[in-house]
Amino acid sequence: MRHWRIGNAVVTRVEEQLGHGSFPPDQYFTGFERDVLERNLAWLVPDHYVPEADALITSVHSWLIRTTHHTILVDACAGNHKDRHWWPRFHDLDTPWLDRLARAGAVPEEIDIVLCTHLHADHIGWNTRLRDGRWVPTFPNARYLFSRTEHDHWDPRQHPDDTLDPHRRIAYGDSVLPVVEAGQAQLVDGSHAIDDELLIEPSPGHTPGHVLLKLLHAEGGAVFCGDVLHHPLQIHAPHWNSQFCADQEQARDTRRRVLEHCAAKRALLLPTHFGAPHVVAVDEVAGGFAARFIEPHG
Ligand SMILES: [Zn+2]
Repeated sequence: MRHWRIGNAVVTRVEEQLGHGSFPPDQYFTGFERDVLERNLAWLVPDHYVPEADALITSVHSWLIRTTHHTILVDACAGNHKDRHWWPRFHDLDTPWLDRLARAGAVPEEIDIVLCTHLHADHIGWNTRLRDGRWVPTFPNARYLFSRTEHDHWDPRQHPDDTLDPHRRIAYGDSVLPVVEAGQAQLVDGSHAIDDELLIEPSPGHTPGHVLLKLLHAEGGAVFCGDVLHHPLQIHAPHWNSQFCADQEQARDTRRRVLEHCAAKRALLLPTHFGAPHVVAVDEVAGGFAARFIEPHG
């Protein structure tokens, strides 16, 4: 399996899906400007945009990070057999994601930390799997780290009067609640150091309690940024949000802050939905930023 070496860590992508997104760019992005897309076609085609279909390419993947001390999974895709009848792309999937995790070098028992950047359905699915008709944690030896703000936002028990979003209840119920009930959830507040290499930081906007994970290293390290950016075009147009960003202004502020950090510190950016090769460096250029893709190191 191809991987990236970042500092002392080995990072592998575990794919669930790669293909056309569910929406054309002018619906997907708020503030979309077609001339920005046209100017960048040379590098967007074919891994990030398909002109004939006016379709964005999006990936859904997890990141497996192996450090000296930990084996960590960042984001857990949509999962298998989940009832997501309101969203065909994620409904009742049956993908070989666990086999791909094994090929990446880890069986579920070896994962000791799971971090969901936020609790949207395409980031929590593999938290659990179906065993004898019950949802049980996929990773029996892991601590699952959730932002407390994020958890409390999605936990229906904290919103007893909230009858507006039944989908929220379903996804939380099959992919978060079983982890909490198994005693494997740890809610974190603000910035949270896992150890001296790994730092969780708030990155709100896309959702209220969205967090990112920094892999710290003198030579730049990396930022696993979840859905702070959805598509590499947003490096060139950081003012574009996705239609799914809850707080549009905060999402833009957080995105700029993350891009500035990556450019200044030479930290690689590893989001959850970028097309191949899925990892970028951020260069500061006149008037903004540019994406520079980083091929796997082996
Ligand atoms: Zn997402």
